[in-house]
Amino acid sequence: MSDKKVTGGCLCGAVRFEIELPTLFCGHCHCSMCRQPHGSAFVTWTAVPPERFRYLAGEEQTRQFQSSEEGTRTFCHLCGSQMLCQVEPDILDIALSALHAPIDRVPEAHWYYDSRVTWFEVTDDLPKYGGEYGMEPLGID
Ligand SMILES: [Zn+2]
Ligand SMILES: [Zn+2]
Repeated sequence: MSDKKVTGGCLCGAVRFEIELPTLFCGHCHCSMCRQPHGSAFVTWTAVPPERFRYLAGEEQTRQFQSSEEGTRTFCHLCGSQMLCQVEPDILDIALSALHAPIDRVPEAHWYYDSRVTWFEVTDDLPKYGGEYGMEPLGID
């Protein structure tokens, strides 16, 4: 396993963390539960197993919001930066925008593409998935 680390954190700097590469995946999520709290057209996520994530500072400034039965989102309560999302116990999603340096991959797919906004046009050729869990092929690559 690589021991390369990438640091990240929130806008105000109170919360800082690091992840250890390699990451598990990277992609754009168009679901409304991502878009709304991030204030964006879609959210680009990467992920690591939770044991490869570590707070460096400010964990006590984080708050969690349970956005679905399974999903919990973590943000800085001082500046509002959304940073983490956890749906499955062995996968910790990290907002790519919270990281301070490039990771070991680039975005590979669009998820929940059928929930996308009408005011942003996606023009890349990445695979596009949707359906109930956002990962079914839509056949519209
Ligand atoms: Zn902050
Ligand atoms: Zn989402």
